[in-house]
Amino acid sequence: MAEPFCFDISKNLFQEAKRFLAGGVDSPVRAFRGVGGTPVFLRKGQGCRVWDEDNNEYIDYLLSWGPMIAGHGNPRVIGAMSLAMQKGTSFGAPTKEETELAHMICDAIPSMELMRFVNSGTEAVMSALRLARAFTGRDKIIKLIGCYHGHWDGMLVKAGSGLATLGVPDSAGVPEAFAQNTLVAPYNDLEAIGQLFEAYPKDIAALIVEPVAANMGVVLPKPGYLQGLRKLTEEYGALLIFDEVITGFRLTYGSVQNIYGVKPDLLCLGKIIGGGMPVGAYGGRRDIMEMVAPDGPVYQAGTLSGNPVAMAAGLVTLRIMAEPGTYDSMEPKAEHLAMALKKAADSADVPMYVSRAGSMFTAFFTPQEVTDYETAAASNLKMYSLYFHGMLKRGIYIAPSQFEACFLSIAHGDDEIATTIKAARQALIDIGKSRCA
Ligand code: PMP
Repeated sequence: MAEPFCFDISKNLFQEAKRFLAGGVDSPVRAFRGVGGTPVFLRKGQGCRVWDEDNNEYIDYLLSWGPMIAGHGNPRVIGAMSLAMQKGTSFGAPTKEETELAHMICDAIPSMELMRFVNSGTEAVMSALRLARAFTGRDKIIKLIGCYHGHWDGMLVKAGSGLATLGVPDSAGVPEAFAQNTLVAPYNDLEAIGQLFEAYPKDIAALIVEPVAANMGVVLPKPGYLQGLRKLTEEYGALLIFDEVITGFRLTYGSVQNIYGVKPDLLCLGKIIGGGMPVGAYGGRRDIMEMVAPDGPVYQAGTLSGNPVAMAAGLVTLRIMAEPGTYDSMEPKAEHLAMALKKAADSADVPMYVSRAGSMFTAFFTPQEVTDYETAAASNLKMYSLYFHGMLKRGIYIAPSQFEACFLSIAHGDDEIATTIKAARQALIDIGKSRCA
């Protein structure tokens, strides 16, 4: 019998962190507020496993929120980064590796004609939206409820009541005036989008969407939804922006458009294209991207953009993912795991709906199908937090929030999947029992 997990060192480190770091973390969800308790401080990762400061070992399904698709410490990625580091960690001047990575991305994604690297997903979205406004000469943006596009002011807006309701800020410090240019509608509801375009036919610069949503948990687009968004945006002269910070190179080698056949005007990337280093990118139609400085009037810049170490990590990660069979080997494992979770929940009499796209999935603690934020938000968060802690103490590391995805890497093997299913069965039985008690 393995030793029960002890988290004493992590607890102490969190107390210390809170003295110097706001909330003890550098990104809010890391603080475990969604599941209770205190965060686990990670020390090391190798393949699909991570170790915390108390030396507990976990199979990792967070994968740094998606980027580590080639596994932690992948020797090829580390080797390329080390070589790059020896040559210089930042120049603030062009390097050939930026072009090389951009070339690979443009080859993989049909809509990507011209692009630019930035340092995060937030920056990619912020830049794409500025560009969309400049290109169309319009101010308003449509955003879908439950889609997350980074922490830029205009995107921190939640739904008011009613479809055409103007946005209200979701964070303190966002001026009303910013939020008012953000219109919101439920995901998977074309009628609501149609109504917004009818209400503001000449004011909407762009519609931004996670084409397969992953920030309200994984939610798939209904058949015809993405095609409908393409049609409506074209009809009203607005740009369609795919935010693929999560889905880019996650579902297939390329973009959601490679699967669904819908081409956006602009597309945002992050996470996987940086192989675990801070990278984002935006790009798309050449005529639009030519408006970016220095060729055009839309200013956007970055001291560390296209950083050589990050480019090296991204290049090798994409080369690994381009090899035959990588996606085909991950997907059946994710499917098997997702189905086994549902089966285990059913036999423990715990309500669950599992939503999966390729190698990412979310187990929602709700009996009904999840198609949008409202149905996702109907999940039982108490059960999720029991599940999270039940998995953690059995050596399985998943996102500390119901509204996130579990990710597989190429390093997750059948043994790890079997161990995860075993842990989930036990965690779910405990939840089932606590319901009866
Ligand atoms: N867009 C999407 C779809 C995301 O999932 C995220 C972050 N998870 C972002 C944008 C923001 O990216 P970053 O955290 O790198 O700023």
